Amino acid sequence: RQEQFRELRSVVPETRDGRRVALMMNAGLLVDLPQIEESGAEGIGLFRTELQFMIASRMPRMNEQEAFYREVFDQVCERPVTFRTLDIGGDKVVPYFRKAEEENPALGWRAVRLAIDRPGLLRMQLRALLKAAGGRQLRLMVPMVTEVRELRRVRAHLEHERAHLARFGYALPAEVQLGAMLEVPSLMWQLDELMAEADFVSVGSNDLFQFTMAADRGNGRVADRFNALGRPFLRMLRQIVAAADRAGTPLTLCGEMAGYPLTAMALLGIGFRSISMSAAAIGPVKSMILTLDLAHLEARLLPALEETEPHRTLRELLADYAASE
Ligand code: PEP
Ligand code: MG
Repeated sequence: RQEQFRELRSVVPETRDGRRVALMMNAGLLVDLPQIEESGAEGIGLFRTELQFMIASRMPRMNEQEAFYREVFDQVCERPVTFRTLDIGGDKVVPYFRKAEEENPALGWRAVRLAIDRPGLLRMQLRALLKAAGGRQLRLMVPMVTEVRELRRVRAHLEHERAHLARFGYALPAEVQLGAMLEVPSLMWQLDELMAEADFVSVGSNDLFQFTMAADRGNGRVADRFNALGRPFLRMLRQIVAAADRAGTPLTLCGEMAGYPLTAMALLGIGFRSISMSAAAIGPVKSMILTLDLAHLEARLLPALEETEPHRTLRELLADYAASE
């Protein structure tokens, strides 16, 4: 099967009824990058920049960050890369970055909260990214946004850094796009503002699921108790797709659920056209897409999503559908 997936590398991911899907890969270290060729990913949908920090024994300096990002750009050869600004805290521990003990680290001082309170750290990273991206397209996204104004704060820092570099004559990126990760449920009640403010939105379904279901993603006792294919979560995702479509804001999803053919199929059925996953998942997901009749799936899935007294689960519906195709 591995061989069979390799043969699909250069095949365009398009459904039987002609709908094009973008398949991107998640990465975080230089060792991940050769997999972009091997998997046939269209680009990197999530680059977890905190990994460089997590494997270091001290804070990477600005020039080290810049060299690292430049290397990423060089290795992906013109394919799009979306860098996520530092997502420290919660399940992502940076040993030399000492924070006070927190009772609920997942709900604590982390990610963009920390970035806003420690703007020096954020500014240094933004400057390194802007310099590394000279002449190219820079796509950035902000983790754990809870209120749209946090994204505005980051944008203000970004503009400040860009102006600073311009003043000193550095080559600036040809284009800069600033996106938000949607992984905190509060954004569901700010969808229109979010879609207007963000250049793109990427659903972090691992955290969005954890916070929506109040189920710790790292706790086996509860993590598998609820199902990403359950109606509550899929209805939520469907509302996000509708808001993105209304605003014309590009939307993608980069959590684990994108990497399993059945859950990826559900995502396409509710309207996602771009998903990002581990490199190893690209082949299996692509082979599902090539056999999919999306109009047919939508006709079954969308009404079933709204059923209030369902006689079968969406997982059963999708599994039956997959078996019948
Ligand atoms: C997510 O939360 O779904 C996500 C993609 O980010 P991470 O798994 O790194 O938190
Ligand atoms: Mg996350």
